[in-house]
Amino acid sequence: MDTKNKTDYTALVKSQRDYFNTNITKDVNFRIANLKKFIAVLKANEALMDEAIYKDFKKSSFENYATELSLVYHEINLAIRNLKSWSGKKRVTTNMANLPGASYIIPEPLGVTLTIGAWNYPYQLSLAPVVAALAAGNTAIVKPSELSFNSSHAMAKIINDNFKADYFHVVEGGVEETTALLQESFDKIFYTGSTNVGKIIMKAAAEHLTPVTLELGGKSPSFVFNNANLKITAKRLVWAKFLNGGQTCVAPDYILAEKGVKDKLIAEIKKQIKNIHGDDPQQSEAFVRIINPRHFKRILQLIDTNKVVIGGENDETDLYISPTVMDNVGFEDAVMQEEIFGPVLPVIEFDDLDWAIRKIKERPKPLALYVFASGSGKIKKILHEVSFGGGAINDAVMHLTNSNLPFGGVGSSGMGSYHGKAGFNAFSHFKSILDKSTLIEPPIKYPPYAAWKRKILKKLLE
Ligand code: NAD
Repeated sequence: MDTKNKTDYTALVKSQRDYFNTNITKDVNFRIANLKKFIAVLKANEALMDEAIYKDFKKSSFENYATELSLVYHEINLAIRNLKSWSGKKRVTTNMANLPGASYIIPEPLGVTLTIGAWNYPYQLSLAPVVAALAAGNTAIVKPSELSFNSSHAMAKIINDNFKADYFHVVEGGVEETTALLQESFDKIFYTGSTNVGKIIMKAAAEHLTPVTLELGGKSPSFVFNNANLKITAKRLVWAKFLNGGQTCVAPDYILAEKGVKDKLIAEIKKQIKNIHGDDPQQSEAFVRIINPRHFKRILQLIDTNKVVIGGENDETDLYISPTVMDNVGFEDAVMQEEIFGPVLPVIEFDDLDWAIRKIKERPKPLALYVFASGSGKIKKILHEVSFGGGAINDAVMHLTNSNLPFGGVGSSGMGSYHGKAGFNAFSHFKSILDKSTLIEPPIKYPPYAAWKRKILKKLLE
C-alpha cells in the first residue's frame, strides 16, 4: 500500500480496523504463528539491517546485534513462550454480595495500534513495542524515525514485503507524515522520543481519547560514592555513557561524585576510555557517530572547553565527537540545561547528599538513576527520596535488558512501561466479568428499604 497522504492513511487504518474486526488476530495460535514469522523474517534480513544502520551512524554489526536485534528477538521468544498464560482468562475471588457467582478477567487486544519510534536505537525502539502489540492480538502500524532513514527503509522493506498492510505495516516519514497519521483514530499510541514531541502526541491522542504509552527522555544522574569499587564503576560508566556515541535515553547523563572520590574517578575513567576505545576512538569500531549535523552542533555548544579534562576533539566531516569528560561542572552550566544525548560526561562534586537530592528533585523526573556505592544506607535513601523511571545499583543501562523489569519513565520522562509482560499489558485491555448464578435472588438490594436490610448490606459491602 502506498502511504503518502491523508487518504492513504485513512484507508490504511480502515483496512486494519476491518481486519481486526474479523477477530482473527485474537486467536492465540494466529499470534504465535505471526511472531514466529516475524523473528524468521528479521533473522533472514540481518545483513540488510546491519548495512543500513552502519550507513546511518557507523554502528557496528556487533552492536546492532547486542543492543538492538537481540532485544527484539528476546521479546519475541518470551512472548511466544508465555502467550498462552498471558492471554488466558484469570479467575479472581468473588465478593459476598455476588455469591453464588464467579469473577474473572479477560485480557483483550485494544485494536489498531500506532508505534512511533526514535532514531537512536532504530530497530529496537520501533520493533520491540510492536512485538507486544502483535502478541496482545492487535494490528500494528509503525512509523520509524526519519533521522535514521536507512534503518527506516530497511524496516519498511522487510515488514511490508512480508506482512499484509491490513495486519502489520511500516509507514515512513517525518513530522508532516506523522502529523497526518495522528489525525486518524487509533486504539493505542506508543511513542518513543523527546518530551516536547511527547506532548504533541498526547494532545493528538486526546482528540480521540486514545490511550498512550510515552517513552521519553531526561537527564539521568549517576551517583558515585567514596566507597564504590572505582575500577568497576569507571568501566561500567564509560561503557554505558559512550555506547552509541552517548545517544542512549538511559545513558548516565552526568555524574554526582561524592567529595574525595572525584579526581580518582576521573583518572580511572580516562584509563577505561583508553581500554575500551583505544588511543584514538575515531578509529574504534565500537564508537558510533552523531546522527546528523544538527545534533553535532547542538552537542558541541554544550561543551565548555575550559572544563574539558578528557577528550574534546571533534571532526565535523565524520560527525565525530570524542568521549569527553568535563570537570568542576555546576548545575547552572549549559551542559546541565538539557539532556546531553551525546558523548559528553559532566562531573559535579557534592559533599551533602541532601543538597544533591534536592538539586535532582528541582528538575524534571529522570528516566534513569544510577548509584555506585557499597553498603546500603545511602542507596536506600536515594531510592526512597528520588522519583525516577528505573535504574541500577553499581551498573548503568543494563537494567533494561531484564524483561522482568517494566521499562518506562515517570513524570516528564514518560508514562506507562513495556518489555516482557509489561508490554503485553500496555497493549491490552483487561475486561472484568462477573458471572452470576440464577439459583437465588435475595431481596436485600430491592425496595422497600428497611433497617434490617441496611444491617445486612453493612455486613456484605463494607
Ligand atoms: P523526537 O521526539 O524528535 O522524534 C521521535 C519520533 O517523533 C520520530 O519518529 C519523529 O518522526 C516523530 N516526530 C518528531 N517531531 C514530531 C512532531 N512535531 N509531530 C509528530 N511526530 C514528530 O525524538 P528523537 O530526537 O528521535 O529522540 C531523542 C529523545 O528521545 C531523547 O530525549 C531521548 O531520551 C528520548 N528517547 C527515549 C527513549 C525511551 O525509551 N524512553 C528511547 C530513545 C530515545
